Amino acid sequence: MSKVMLVTGGSRGIGAAVAKLAARRGYAVGVNYRTHAGAADAVVADIQRQGGHAVAIQADVSQEDQVLQMFRTLDERLGRVDALVNNAGILEKQMRVDDMDADRLLRVLSTNVIGAFLCAREAVRRMSPRHGGQGGAIVNVSSAAARLGSPNEYVDYAASKGALDTLTIGLSKEVAPEGIRVNGVRPGTIYTDMHASGGEPGRVDRLKSVIPLRRGGSVEEVAGAVLWLFSDEAGYTSGSFIDVSGGT
Ligand code: NAD
Repeated sequence: MSKVMLVTGGSRGIGAAVAKLAARRGYAVGVNYRTHAGAADAVVADIQRQGGHAVAIQADVSQEDQVLQMFRTLDERLGRVDALVNNAGILEKQMRVDDMDADRLLRVLSTNVIGAFLCAREAVRRMSPRHGGQGGAIVNVSSAAARLGSPNEYVDYAASKGALDTLTIGLSKEVAPEGIRVNGVRPGTIYTDMHASGGEPGRVDRLKSVIPLRRGGSVEEVAGAVLWLFSDEAGYTSGSFIDVSGGT
């Protein structure tokens, strides 16, 4: 029986790369998407062409009822989850703090923190021996912004990723005795559509000169770090973070 991985926001960018690499490593993959069914189906088709097993599952991770339904669907279609990647995240337009309204902060926290919390909770409810599970692992996709603070751009986003890191630390200690490892990956500046949603499609290239490795990262380079955290080699690693940020 294949191990089961759920990747939130798996239809594109880092999530799609994680889903494809996980399938190549033998996982049956639940590819969560919020709105882009066609893109999620394309990821699933790609995995199936390579001989892997995947299903697309719609849910807005910020909505509790949708998260509950997503995990029920995963239970039915692939089985009990062994590995969760909390990858879904949003970034709003670059802005100074004086122009931000509270609704923006609530939107960002809803996906980046509440979404990750709800999915982690549902995963723990399946992985923990307290609920008949056999352990598992969770990786939260944070950001270098959690350490840098993103002044003049998105302090709200940076604060949400800081909260996600603290959730990672707390959860890792709480569930480690139950055989569940929880870690984080902090990407730096990666070539994906996210920078366009931040209002600046050319941002990665603009930042090259301040990135020590002098380039943006690829989604595959992030996916490699995520998959390592699920590997047997990472069996003694929990509550840790891998920075995939070109030395930033
Ligand atoms: P992306 O915008 O291409 O992908 C994000 C995915 O999350 C999309 O598929 C989107 O539909 C999905 N999503 C957003 N809100 C959702 C919700 N409420 N429910 C379900 N799905 C939702 O961006 P990406 O760069 O691939 O980002 C993936 C993760 O990596 C995010 O958490 C992001 O914060 C983080 N990250 C990215 C970078 C970067 O440079 N690209 C840097 C640091 C961290």
